[in-house]
Amino acid sequence: MKQDRRHWLKLVGLVAVGVGVQRGGAIAAPVRRVLPEGLSGGPLRLSSNENPYGPSPKARAAMAEAVGLSNRYQWDMILGLMRAIAAKYSLAEANVLVGAGSTQLIDAVVQHAAMNKGSFVVSAPTFSRWTGAAEQSGLQKIEVALTAQKKNDLNGMLAAMRADTQLVYLCNPNNPTGTYCRREDILLFLKEATKKALVLVDEAYLEYSDEASLAGLVAENRNLVVVKTFSKIYGLAGARIGYALGHEKTIEKIGALQSGSNIGISAVSLAGALASLKDEDFVKETQFKNATARAYASAHMERLKISCIPSCTNFIYFSLAKYQEDFFARLKVHNIEGTNLFEEQGKWSRITVGTEAEMEQFINAIS
Ligand code: PLP
Repeated sequence: MKQDRRHWLKLVGLVAVGVGVQRGGAIAAPVRRVLPEGLSGGPLRLSSNENPYGPSPKARAAMAEAVGLSNRYQWDMILGLMRAIAAKYSLAEANVLVGAGSTQLIDAVVQHAAMNKGSFVVSAPTFSRWTGAAEQSGLQKIEVALTAQKKNDLNGMLAAMRADTQLVYLCNPNNPTGTYCRREDILLFLKEATKKALVLVDEAYLEYSDEASLAGLVAENRNLVVVKTFSKIYGLAGARIGYALGHEKTIEKIGALQSGSNIGISAVSLAGALASLKDEDFVKETQFKNATARAYASAHMERLKISCIPSCTNFIYFSLAKYQEDFFARLKVHNIEGTNLFEEQGKWSRITVGTEAEMEQFINAIS
């Protein structure tokens, strides 16, 4: 097994660069799924960009302990988490809104933006689970194609903004493409865009990259909200917990639209999130394992004539235009769940980076 690992690392060139990440051994062992009676293991899920190693050991211990606290409302824990999040970005707790997953907070931001009728601007493709609800709220969708490198087209988004635009959504790094825009470019973009409308930056995958968060900017800018989640690098997707960061006046207005702002998270999830923030080793371990498995998978996909966009996340965007086989049929036969096509033209699809063993299973299936 060790031999195989070295072989992989060699293949993907990581042995040579050494990858200066602390090795934690058993810290982030893949999680064996123990399912309640009546639920089958199901397919190998490489569709939802989850962390196959999480929750972190510290989070698991804290969550188990918090079960016993579940008879009481946990006001102190909520405040504790909000303070810990604020401290991470040198903000105040008034800049923080927590909720049951970042999707819920994106919805709250949309609700706030939709108080005035008008439009919202998004890349295409991007994370779009919420856009139907935004349209239902009365906002008209304006889509902007990505650049040829499959990045958010910041200038195109600026140009697409209209006088009635209430919201611009920027997913950085972008889902499904795994690309990011440089901080300098985003700062220029924000300078213009936030003069005219609220900009929501979604950093769900930022921790997989080496980029710095934009969160620190919210205290000075009423038209910037940054949304983040514990679902990805922290491995808490099933615990449902995320947060939004904004200017205190903006957070106050968004919070006022919820009858229970900040109280939608269970004691168990609060405990998991708090412990996760302190488990730096787990984050580093996940980054390292993800980068290794991603490089392995991309190298083999390229060998199979599946061209991959360089990714800084835990998923890979690729074109099947030159692939000789029926990709989706192969996934089906091997009981692997991927996604559908995002862009028909060019046959672009996405696969989540699982564990090394899972990526080996995936590569064998499509070889
Ligand atoms: N934002 C992006 C870009 C995502 O890809 C996802 C989930 O896949 C989410 C938000 C939602 O995350 P949560 O589990 O916090 O609702």
